Amino acid sequence: MVNYWLMITAEFENVATLQPQGGCDDPSFTYFFKMKCGSCGELTDKETCVALERSVQIPGSKGTANLVQKCKFCEREGTVSLIPGKGKPLTQELSEAGKYTGLMMFDCRGYEPVGFLFEGGWMVETAAGTKFEDVDLSDGEFMEYDEKGKCSVMISNLKSGFVVAKGK
Ligand SMILES: [Zn+2]
Repeated sequence: MVNYWLMITAEFENVATLQPQGGCDDPSFTYFFKMKCGSCGELTDKETCVALERSVQIPGSKGTANLVQKCKFCEREGTVSLIPGKGKPLTQELSEAGKYTGLMMFDCRGYEPVGFLFEGGWMVETAAGTKFEDVDLSDGEFMEYDEKGKCSVMISNLKSGFVVAKGK
């Protein structure tokens, strides 16, 4: 069993925080990414979608996971589970320092997650306290005018990656 952090960062302009619509543990927020088979190294063709609110029984086990998938090439089965309670929003402070935040932790068995996509609805809170909801980041950026702060707000240069979580 290996845990992975989904790490994200971006450049902010007058933005305080960026996170999934209902927070990092939003049960309906769907994470899209590809998976690499830990056994044969085959990469899935299509993105996998995983959300906390959707779980399935692991065949031959009493446990559940948020995703059970069989590798098309070697037919080995693997599972992915999201681990809530650990992720943190991306803040202005981290963005300015060029650092990443760990958005969600994934328990992956038999697969390695790769190539996260910024799909789904995101919540952006501006430096002036305005909240933009259900923001679409799929084209890689966000631009708006903040009436309250009387300034433009922007998110650009979105980056992400999965890294092996060390320790707790
Ligand atoms: Zn395989």
